[in-house]
Amino acid sequence: MQNIHGPFSEISPDSVRFSPFSISPPEGWEGPENFPNCCNYHSNIVKNTEEFLSIFPLCCEQHKKFADLFKVKKGDYDFLKDKIVYQVSFTQHIIEQKINNQDWYEDITDFIEFNYSSFGHPPVGGHIYLSELKNIIGQTEVISNHKKNDLLNYLENLTNPTIIHKSANLNTLFKIHKKWLATFPFELSFFSGLKEEYHKKLPFVSKIVNTNRYSKKTSVLIHTEESMVMYLFNLTKGLLNQIRTADLVKEGKISNPEQHRFEMILEEREINRKALLEQYTSGEIEYVNTISKWLNHEVDFFNKLKTFAIKRNTKPNANKKGPISSHSFKVKYGKEEVVRKILSELNREIYLIDEEKTDFNDFLNVMLSKKIPLDKKIHFACYNNQLAYILEHFKSTYKLYSAIGYASMERVGIFYSKEGAKLNAQLLSSSKSQNPFPAQMDVIDSIFKKFV
Ligand SMILES: [Zn+2]
Ligand SMILES: [Zn+2]
Repeated sequence: MQNIHGPFSEISPDSVRFSPFSISPPEGWEGPENFPNCCNYHSNIVKNTEEFLSIFPLCCEQHKKFADLFKVKKGDYDFLKDKIVYQVSFTQHIIEQKINNQDWYEDITDFIEFNYSSFGHPPVGGHIYLSELKNIIGQTEVISNHKKNDLLNYLENLTNPTIIHKSANLNTLFKIHKKWLATFPFELSFFSGLKEEYHKKLPFVSKIVNTNRYSKKTSVLIHTEESMVMYLFNLTKGLLNQIRTADLVKEGKISNPEQHRFEMILEEREINRKALLEQYTSGEIEYVNTISKWLNHEVDFFNKLKTFAIKRNTKPNANKKGPISSHSFKVKYGKEEVVRKILSELNREIYLIDEEKTDFNDFLNVMLSKKIPLDKKIHFACYNNQLAYILEHFKSTYKLYSAIGYASMERVGIFYSKEGAKLNAQLLSSSKSQNPFPAQMDVIDSIFKKFV
């Protein structure tokens, strides 16, 4: 039958019956002679059970309904006369065996839980088992008061549960999860490997409570609507946090940043569309906002990267028309390659050029061409006295240029200082005279020595 509300059929707890099952005697248990007719205490348990059976199933509304629904007849539960007294005795044995162990509480309550579940659903006779245990524990003198209280509280809570965990209906959780799947940017290639994995998962269990050592059953808590949304919010943050685009770019693992940029832009648009038009609860909108912010940062990052890449990849273009001057710094014949190496290494070591504003290749072109193109502005990132020192090396110390100097720099008129001022001869010479020993002087010296 098609279920239009989701993949899970709704089952009302009242319409299900689990049959009772029997429990084997625990290790070391031996019944007294003539058990259960050995003493007043045990025969009273049997008597109490018989009294209950004499009115069952008309004892209460729950049992009446249950008997109607499942055609329970008088006599069907006569086995309880033995079952209850035996299991009370088994439990008493376990309590005596385990009470001094480190894990006494978990062990004993696991056994009690296992026994109580053996009365089936809805439980028939389980209440007698519990109340007889309360008597035993209340009266015994071998258990300390605090342990007694812990066990009595446990039994009380089993009889009248006070904390009811309100798990959500599975179809509601399914819808919440489906909405998240449709929202998270699984389309991004970063997440393509995860897409299938997360579509298969139905993470409805919020917590594994424990595994009962006697029944071997594991009990779990199913999410509430709120805890499910909180879980998805944390999952969103966790997944996004795994993507370190900056590192990936640095490591060269993003081979096509343009494609990533394109993907991110589409996804950013998509998440903003969803945020506007889809119905999200106030809890859900938090993960939507997180995704949106993240995509926004990524797009921003890839945009910056693009500007940078364009500058890097622009090759000096000979066909490009632009003002060409008659000036040249006149690099010494055959020394072009040496100069290129020196300038490149200086740029790496002391940040000669401000690459946010100037393409380094344009700078090389200016420094090596026979006619300096005047359509490029060259912004330096080094200090003026560093530049002056470098110019001296080029001209006087190593004689790599014949026409380079403060005055020719000014004449060409396309050079700008670190601070943004147009460079002139006066600026360069005064910086030199104020501080003739520039920062990283030894680095500059060694670069020249290395290549000349
Ligand atoms: Zn007895
Ligand atoms: Zn009843």
